[in-house]
Amino acid sequence: MAKFFRAAVLGPPGSGKGTICKRIAHSFGLQYLSSGHFLREGIAADTEAGVLAKSYIERGMLVPDQVMTRLMLPKLEQLRNHSWLLDGFPRTLAQAQALNNLYQMDLVINLNIPYETLKERLSDRWIHPASGRVYNMGFNPPQVQGKDDVTGEPLIQHDDDKPEALMARLRHYKEVAKPVIDLY
Ligand code: AMP
Repeated sequence: MAKFFRAAVLGPPGSGKGTICKRIAHSFGLQYLSSGHFLREGIAADTEAGVLAKSYIERGMLVPDQVMTRLMLPKLEQLRNHSWLLDGFPRTLAQAQALNNLYQMDLVINLNIPYETLKERLSDRWIHPASGRVYNMGFNPPQVQGKDDVTGEPLIQHDDDKPEALMARLRHYKEVAKPVIDLY
């Protein structure tokens, strides 16, 4: 039986995880699966997972593990005969364990980015709350300043992307990510 490649990228908010994942997936011909993208798709289509996830995402919180595993594992099942790269999943130990029960990971990349860099990037980050679309005023700005490209609605800045909340958020990320990194 052919061996398929199983990989994931871990990284704090603002680490450029999405951009890096897409490049790796493209270069190596891997199926790219982003949990944030699936959540945003679910929100736009008003699916059960989308409705559940929306209030968490708006508050900058993690979506509960059960919602995430029920969203992601069936997608992986569909791609059983493909090599894939995961972006944003697993994010917690429970998610990593659920994944490990089904698949043996070949590679997990952990992005280790200096705090100052994260702070700079996140303070430039604006979102469209209804869809979860994310913009960066530095390297991925909207076509019209302050407005969502698709709907034209105003963009907002997460309270937790504001400098005063960042330290706490990154500390929280570290706490949640540590057991995941240790597991791999
Ligand atoms: P991302 O596009 O990866 O930054 O994800 C956007 C948001 O979706 C995150 O801030 C979380 O609220 C939520 N999210 C994405 N992936 C997960 C996950 N694996 N576990 C919990 N929440 C997630």
